[in-house]
Amino acid sequence: LAYISEESILEVKNAIDIVEVVSGFLPLKRKSGSYWAPCPFHDEKTASFHVVPEKQFYKCFGCGAHGGVIDFVVKFEKIDFPAAVELLAEKAGITLRYTGGTAAGPRREDLVRTNEWAAGVFRKLLLTSAEAESARKFLERRGVAPETSEAWRLGYAPEGWDGLLQRARRNGISEKLLMASGLAVEREDGSGFYDRFRGRVMFPIFDIRGKVIAFGGRTLKDETPKFINSPETALFSKGRQLFGLHAAKDDVEESRTLHIVEGYLDVIVPWQAGVKGIVATLGTALTRDHLKLLKRYVDRVVLVFDSDAAGQKAAERGLDLLLAEDMDLFVAKLPPGEDTDDVVLKEGADALRKVLDRPQEVFAFLVASLTAKTDTTTPAGKSRVVDQLLERIATVPNPVKQAFLVKEIVAKFGVDERALWSRLRREEPPRKPAAPPKKASPARAKLGRELLSLFLNDPECAARLRREVPPDRYPDEATVLIARKAYELHERAGAVHGSDLLALVRDEGALEALTEAMEIRFNPSGVAKQLEQCLGYLKSEEFRRIEPGALRGEDLLAAKRDAPDLRRLPKPAARP
Ligand SMILES: [Zn+2]
Repeated sequence: LAYISEESILEVKNAIDIVEVVSGFLPLKRKSGSYWAPCPFHDEKTASFHVVPEKQFYKCFGCGAHGGVIDFVVKFEKIDFPAAVELLAEKAGITLRYTGGTAAGPRREDLVRTNEWAAGVFRKLLLTSAEAESARKFLERRGVAPETSEAWRLGYAPEGWDGLLQRARRNGISEKLLMASGLAVEREDGSGFYDRFRGRVMFPIFDIRGKVIAFGGRTLKDETPKFINSPETALFSKGRQLFGLHAAKDDVEESRTLHIVEGYLDVIVPWQAGVKGIVATLGTALTRDHLKLLKRYVDRVVLVFDSDAAGQKAAERGLDLLLAEDMDLFVAKLPPGEDTDDVVLKEGADALRKVLDRPQEVFAFLVASLTAKTDTTTPAGKSRVVDQLLERIATVPNPVKQAFLVKEIVAKFGVDERALWSRLRREEPPRKPAAPPKKASPARAKLGRELLSLFLNDPECAARLRREVPPDRYPDEATVLIARKAYELHERAGAVHGSDLLALVRDEGALEALTEAMEIRFNPSGVAKQLEQCLGYLKSEEFRRIEPGALRGEDLLAAKRDAPDLRRLPKPAARP
């Protein structure tokens, strides 16, 4: 996989202004050197959110949200970091360079452009070609209206082996690029290429920004497989993408709930009928990567399936994942043999809503499906079911949730709770207890921010810090991370602006420390003295005795009694 080069990230960041970008989303008002608006990241009437132009960062005094311009776009648009950089690069007219991946491999943007171009070709064929009549009939039969077909950019891939290849040639698109985009396949004897999708209805697969990155093609003949998808490419990984998420993400802001189905039409037909917030896996079971992606948008996931055995199995698999990921999971059962689109077409949108809005909590679902399969009138049968439930409960990472589930078993089966817990403890896989992130003691955190502020504001301080304090000697984890990146940039460019680091550092804790350092009001006179104090304190015995994290207020007072005076606390600027 290719990554956007750091040079490109900085080029983008330097080409745009955070005030300009943010004011495209929020009504900013200028007040004493910065720009203010009600915060988009928490609910408020007053304006606690401000953007500081000369430092190129934003911060909210209400909820603590903070970061640079790229980070703002990530959070506001709910997209990932590379997508945000690509979006801003497009705005600024910058061509991004990528590192990693195969050296000779095509660039991401060329792959996107090729897929977008192909979507246009397929779309036009669906609308105009005589050959596509069966495709148009198919969509009509499945209840897809012309406007819906337009919105989802449905298309038709021609029969024959080189319909798309020929058009690509005429448009100066190379076979290699077509292949890297997943649209062409190389012949086994190496004698050339042929179209991957032939005689199929084409469903573009979109990334979160709505750009075409792959396709699913449904055959119109009696052949298997009914559906084929683009292969894994530099853009597309079916274990990481969900069909329809670009459309659903804005619809689920209030409900914080997404419904997961399996097919393209299961998303599109309900969407057309006004039932939003449905996405589909792309011919694969739900993965952990899917869930990580979904966690950004919702807290609740509803698996939707009809009652047949395959659906049930998929639900159980998804369930193990979701329990482990600690999300709220529900299961909605459709009438046997029917998909969401069938329900909409036969019984209307309200019938589907009724099913989706009253899902069963997953644990209750599991209990019901296990008891249905086992004779629970006998002690042996009962204990078999309880054992299977406990196995799953053991994987739940959240102890409170675990306790609730145990209580449910007690209520349902009348088993002694203590017996369950002792059984559960045996069941529990040997897990390394996750160490809680070490929170730096206040003295360490403060000194770290002071050092960073000096580094960023004064070239001589920067040079001296690089000579005398290696990154790993910075006082807390957050500032160690920033110092590493800052030194690296300083080496390369000779100077570092705080906003450079905001663009490149991706750790949340480090970003927070960085914005705090950037907020310290810098006083150019007395820099030398302050640097001495900081260095002296960093190297002092008292300071070394302050364990990172292990500190209470009174310890801090004792440790600081003889320490040099560190005046300028990183306190937020006064609100106008
Ligand atoms: Zn806020």
